[in-house]
Amino acid sequence: MDISQTNTLSKVSFSIEQTVAAISGVLEQLDVPRTLHQPLFRGNEWKYLKDCLDTGWVSSVGSYVDRIEQMLAEYTGAKRVVAVVNGTAALFIAMKLAGVEPGDEVLIPALTFVATANAVAYCGAIPHLTDSEFETLGMDPAKLEAYLADIAQNDGETTRNRFTGARIKAVIPMHTFGHPVDLDPLVELCKRWNLELIEDAAESLGSFYKRRHTGTFGRIGILSFNGNKVVTTGGGGALLFNNEAEANFAKHLTTTARRPHKWEYFHDMLGYNFRMPNLNAALGCAQLENLPDFLESKRILTMQYIEALRNVPGLKIVKEPSFAHSNYWLNALVLDEDVSSLRDAILEATNGSGIMTRPVWTLMHHLPMYKNCPRMDLSVAESLEKRIVNIPSSAVLNF
Ligand SMILES: *Cc1c(COP(=O)(O)O)cnc(C)c1O
Repeated sequence: MDISQTNTLSKVSFSIEQTVAAISGVLEQLDVPRTLHQPLFRGNEWKYLKDCLDTGWVSSVGSYVDRIEQMLAEYTGAKRVVAVVNGTAALFIAMKLAGVEPGDEVLIPALTFVATANAVAYCGAIPHLTDSEFETLGMDPAKLEAYLADIAQNDGETTRNRFTGARIKAVIPMHTFGHPVDLDPLVELCKRWNLELIEDAAESLGSFYKRRHTGTFGRIGILSFNGNKVVTTGGGGALLFNNEAEANFAKHLTTTARRPHKWEYFHDMLGYNFRMPNLNAALGCAQLENLPDFLESKRILTMQYIEALRNVPGLKIVKEPSFAHSNYWLNALVLDEDVSSLRDAILEATNGSGIMTRPVWTLMHHLPMYKNCPRMDLSVAESLEKRIVNIPSSAVLNF
């Protein structure tokens, strides 16, 4: 019998129990639901929804759509916002506007929710997968720069992949769990390589990079209001613009490209029916009124997790990067390398005791439809994939 193995195992099981107890203690103390993330409706949601029903404005025309766009522009500092049916559609439209064409390559993180890659594929373009850095969990600008110097060439206007011959048109960083990536070097990189910067800020409403809201650094940013995001419209998304004309074009494109006219149905190009319905916008307006409270309560929850797990060996809670103010949308444990084999045991133990936890998304190149996508060395993303466990992160109820 190998004694060292017995010792390791006993130390290990101790740590799992301690982890579960610590998480459970925080949830109980703060009265937080044990689900991963659930929405909280305690403002004007009923009132605004009733108003839609009472007035009959439930569908694609109505004042709440204008209102949510205005509220989002004010909050994020974007010049204009266009509300759409969901975040995936927003990404798709953003790429269309940025000139992504079939056959182009678009640089996205391997560690992301599948929507980022899917939206690229909907354009007929090819997701080109990039690695993460440990601090932000998101795109690593220095590693990307070195990689481009290695595999790409730029003729002063266009960047091409020297191996595939394809044009590399855009970069889409994603702010993982609400934690901003290091945007300054990415903005510089995009300028140097003539790449369009589109931010997938689906998870980062309420997150700021050096005091400026995420989603406003590139040509276009997108948000999601899916049921599990910081605020929800049921389903919904938005495009953030710094350019008035581009926002107008986005509105046109997402409302079937119909030319405004009293009675005529004339569509001047191939458009999409992607406009956010007024019912969903009404829900979102009420939710946004509570955003500051949600954010404050989320920060409290994370600080409690950090405190409770401070003395648990082998893991840490993800914290906002030094340059950022995070919305702390979804909390995550990162296991140390040497205990990463325990991830599934932790998932079993937590879910077994009624605490909903999840591993991070499967990396894009591990999914069948993206397994042959071009990609750089993904060793950091691969390491994180094995070590991340998301833990309950709803807003604190009695805050
Ligand atoms: C939620 C999310 C989206 C968009 O999701 P929708 O459900 O289409 O609103 C896109 N990217 C990331 C990273 C997301 O988390």
